[in-house]
Amino acid sequence: MIRISTIQDLQQEIASLRSRGGKIGFVPTMGALHEGHLSLVEACIQKGDHCVASIFVNPTQFNDPNDLRNYPRNPQRDCELLERSGCHVVFMPSEAEMYPEPDTRKFEFGEMGSVMEGKHRPGHFNGVAQIVTKLFDAVQADRAYFGQKDFQQLAIIKTLVAELHYPLEIVGCPIIREPDGLAMSSRNQLLSEEHRKAAPIIYQCLQEVQSRVGTCPVVEIEQYIESTINNHPLLNLEYFQIVERNTLRQVSTIIPENPLNACIAVFAGKVRLIDNVEIIL
Ligand code: AMP
Repeated sequence: MIRISTIQDLQQEIASLRSRGGKIGFVPTMGALHEGHLSLVEACIQKGDHCVASIFVNPTQFNDPNDLRNYPRNPQRDCELLERSGCHVVFMPSEAEMYPEPDTRKFEFGEMGSVMEGKHRPGHFNGVAQIVTKLFDAVQADRAYFGQKDFQQLAIIKTLVAELHYPLEIVGCPIIREPDGLAMSSRNQLLSEEHRKAAPIIYQCLQEVQSRVGTCPVVEIEQYIESTINNHPLLNLEYFQIVERNTLRQVSTIIPENPLNACIAVFAGKVRLIDNVEIIL
């Protein structure tokens, strides 16, 4: 595996990979890698793509400076994991490489960008769009792999790619979970032992949503989630919504033809965790 830190070197290496034939698959990450990230690398290699992964903790997508400061970083271990997974190139740029000038571009995603994560993390998706477009321009991949764990991000990136006519296929990959159901996340390692024990309740709630959909009104499901999470002494609900999968519009009644996802954000102490499930009707 080749480690690269400048866009110029990256583009040279990608040109050389392309000259050998085959497609370029791109897996953007913020590092502190776990099996969720590695599943994207595996999906990329399974497709037969040359795999280019990036590790960059993007400051412009953090609305909370403490979150940015505390974000886990372990580049040495990350490189070992990527190499073992068969990744071909890892791009680990500095902040100065990605932002030689402050990025003043503004991205607007309408309602899709202003609900859930967009509402509770102002500026987050603008920052995501800034870094993702810079990385897409640098890598010029044929396919990019993203996790369904960040359900709203995936929807927004698909919109961005369509609006900007990037000749790029976005591949959504399933959520990888711990054996107790907690969705894998770099932030899980920041949980105290007690909070880690409580965190699987989040996925249990989402499974309960699945079993209640169709048998009771949406408002009752919302009340159930709110009371289950908030009655737990270590958890705090930020939002829970059942939304249309394609538009992210919140629904108040279930219409069987409409594909839906249930999305949740919970604070376990100071650590913010998100999760979602596709609802099967
Ligand atoms: P991050 O490093 O958190 O920015 O995540 C990088 C990519 O990995 C994003 O496309 C995430 O959606 C994806 N990802 C993170 N956690 C998981 C998971 N548990 N399962 C699948 N994909 C994930």
